[in-house]
Amino acid sequence: MEIQRLPVLRDNYVFVLVDRAAAAAAVVDPAVAEPVIAALEAQQLQLSVVLQTHHHNDHIGGTPALLSRWPGAQVWAAASDRARIPFQTDGLRGGDQRLLFHRPVQVLEVPGHTRDHIAFFFPASGGEGPELFCGDTLFAGGCGRLFEGTAEQMLRSLDQLSGLPEATRIWCAHEYTEANLRFAITQEPGNPALQERFQLVQAMRAAGEATVPSSVALERATNPFLRCREASLQQVSGCCEPALVLAEIRRRKDVF
Ligand code: ZN
Ligand code: FE
Repeated sequence: MEIQRLPVLRDNYVFVLVDRAAAAAAVVDPAVAEPVIAALEAQQLQLSVVLQTHHHNDHIGGTPALLSRWPGAQVWAAASDRARIPFQTDGLRGGDQRLLFHRPVQVLEVPGHTRDHIAFFFPASGGEGPELFCGDTLFAGGCGRLFEGTAEQMLRSLDQLSGLPEATRIWCAHEYTEANLRFAITQEPGNPALQERFQLVQAMRAAGEATVPSSVALERATNPFLRCREASLQQVSGCCEPALVLAEIRRRKDVF
C-alpha cells in the first residue's frame, strides 16, 4: 500500500492510500475535495473509502463533494458520532477490524481532542510496516487540544498509541511539528534527542519539507505528552500523577 501526502489549507494533510493493482484509493480526513479529486484523476484512481478520524470540518469538509464524484465510496467513521458525521456508511467502534486493500486495519478509540475521535492502525503485514492515522490526537512533537475530553482520557489515548510498535509510522493530520517542538524544548531542555530533533525539523521546514510521518520511537523519545511519567516532566510541571502532568503541560501549550 502506497501512501501519498497532500498538503491542503494552511497546515492540513490529507493522506491518500493507493492500491495500484486495483486502481483504487482511500483517503484519510479530506479537509477539502478539489485537490483530492485532482490527485486521484491524475492517477486514474477510483475512490473506494474515506476514513474519518473525527468530525471537525478540517477533516470531513471535502467528503460530501467526494461522494458526489464517487457515489459508491464508503465512509468509515465513529458510529457514536453519526450526528456529526451523517454521511458515514460504516459506523465503527473501538476494537473493530476491517480489511483495506488486503491489509487489516484496527480501529482505536482515542478520545480527548473530541469525544468520539478514532484512529486507524495498520499492523505490519506482508512485508509492509505498521502505519497509524491518528487525526488530531497525537501530533509530531505534541497532541491535540482538549476540546471535548479530559486530560485522563487524552492520557489513556496517548498511552494506547505510544504502546504501538516503535517502527509504526505516524501520519498525523497537521504540520505543527516545528511549533510543537519549540514549546517542548521549553519544558524539557535537558533532553538531547529533543534538541537534536528540533534542529533537524527547523532545517526541514526551512527547506520546505514535510515532517510527517513521524514514528512511535521518535515520539516516545521527544514528545512531552508521551513522557508524562518522566522525572524531568514531573519536576517541571510540579505534578506526579501522569494525568496532572499532561493537564499542566497542555495548559502551558495552550497559552504558549
Ligand atoms: Zn480537530
Ligand atoms: Fe484538525
